[in-house]
Amino acid sequence: MDDCIFCKIAAGQIPSRKVVETEDVLVFWDIRPTTPVHCLAIPKKHIASLDKAGPEDARILGSVALAAAEAARQLGVADSGYRLVANTNRDGGQEVFHVHFHLLGGRRFGWPPG
Ligand code: 5GP
Ligand code: ZN
Repeated sequence: MDDCIFCKIAAGQIPSRKVVETEDVLVFWDIRPTTPVHCLAIPKKHIASLDKAGPEDARILGSVALAAAEAARQLGVADSGYRLVANTNRDGGQEVFHVHFHLLGGRRFGWPPG
């Protein structure tokens, strides 16, 4: 999609700090990290949000989750633990409408979220 910032990152038109990349998926550092480890896991295919994903996207979304888990291992937070978050639509706080999972780690999180 032409005006989507994450499509441009996926295509290499905007630089990013990549952690894991496959043919279909990219995990890269968030530009404004909120935790010691803060990456974004995206499909290279444009899907606006989890709310817009369909059954045809099941495989790619599984690949995104597995790539996030691989990034967590590479970044050394798999054993201590981490959180994967997909902010969705207004109440979820979604700002970029290309589906993504935040990989958050390096500190302990409370539950439930505030
Ligand atoms: P959302 O609120 O949509 O779940 O989160 C979007 C995330 O994308 C934010 O954490 C923001 O810092 C990150 N972000 C926005 N623009 C860029 C960018 O150009 N590069 C990178 N690496 N992250 C970005
Ligand atoms: Zn996109």
